[in-house]
Amino acid sequence: MLYFDYAASAPPYEDVIRTVSEVMKLHYGNASSIHAYGENAERLLNKSRSVCAEALNVKPDEIIFTSGATESNNLALKGAALRYRSRGRHIITTRTEHASVYESIKFLSEIGYDITYVPVDAMGRVKTEDVLNAICEETILVSLMHVNNETGAVHPVVEIGQALKRKHPKIVFHVDGVQAYGKIPVQLAGSGIDLYSISGHKIRGPKGVGLLYIRSGLELTPLMSGGSQEQGRRAGTENIPLIVGMSKAMRLARERQPELKARLERLQILLLEEISQHPEWVLNSSEEGAPHIVHFSYPGMKAEVMLHTLEQLDIIVSTQSACSSKQAIPSRVLLGMGKSEAIADSGIRISLGDQHTEKDILQLIQAMRQMKERLASFEGWNS
Ligand code: PMP
Repeated sequence: MLYFDYAASAPPYEDVIRTVSEVMKLHYGNASSIHAYGENAERLLNKSRSVCAEALNVKPDEIIFTSGATESNNLALKGAALRYRSRGRHIITTRTEHASVYESIKFLSEIGYDITYVPVDAMGRVKTEDVLNAICEETILVSLMHVNNETGAVHPVVEIGQALKRKHPKIVFHVDGVQAYGKIPVQLAGSGIDLYSISGHKIRGPKGVGLLYIRSGLELTPLMSGGSQEQGRRAGTENIPLIVGMSKAMRLARERQPELKARLERLQILLLEEISQHPEWVLNSSEEGAPHIVHFSYPGMKAEVMLHTLEQLDIIVSTQSACSSKQAIPSRVLLGMGKSEAIADSGIRISLGDQHTEKDILQLIQAMRQMKERLASFEGWNS
């Protein structure tokens, strides 16, 4: 089997697996306890925080650990909206965000916030001027993803963040960086970004752990009430094994990012060239997007049928984002990009990682051709 679903979850590094299990076994103290076992756990927590801060080039007290990027996104959006509600109740985002952002914002809309959904172009990108034009007196929050998890589209978040800070310094800017970190350069200092979410399992770390960068001086209303862990911003005993594992993956991802980007770009081009040679297929991603995602549709075919046909050929891909793929509905992201239902219903996402070679891509291409032949013969049989 060849696994091309790294954007859903990437295989953890051996070193991460070993470390998580070692920390579970040896350092089980509670980081809030004041005896030696607690101090030991706290030391590991502080070290991990410093490693993650260094990887992002920010201060350790600007990082808090969460149970994953879903929680980071919920905390960023609901926490900022509640904290700053006396300033206004208007939020700006797009219709192509990850479910954890889209649904959090839907919740905020249900409790009285006004939302503007800025349009994206046919390749899924927002224009900076459209975001700026959507701002009104009441705007308190802007949330955009850095890289789209279905298509790989990259929003110009640094350009938007800098423009926001110049003209509207009080507006909070949240960026979901889950699919960006480790794949493309991420530089938070001077970016105008106030909140940035990252997930452990997308960078070959463990599942169930993530972090939220919170710029110094920014306040959030906590979502979890309880103890004073994570500077009182996220109550609950810290999961030291997963946090240490994630910090290892953060460091490796940072070190390897430039080389990985160059390598994945070469593999991505092979796939983009192949897809463009099939007139029946529609490309929904491009070379300008992130290097690890290629997305295409085969209008008239059901995405699940294509996925299972490829699986029979020992190739694992995905239909839409893993969080939405069990709902048998057309992709909200593709509809948000102005694509037809036929395109939104027949999308296949191929997502790459550092373990893939050119040989793997050639095998994938071979399988894609076979899939097309098989499905075409079924169509003939049907009619
Ligand atoms: N945002 C994006 C862009 C994602 O791709 C994902 C994972 N599908 C998440 C947020 C949620 O991350 P987690 O699985 O850590 O909750």
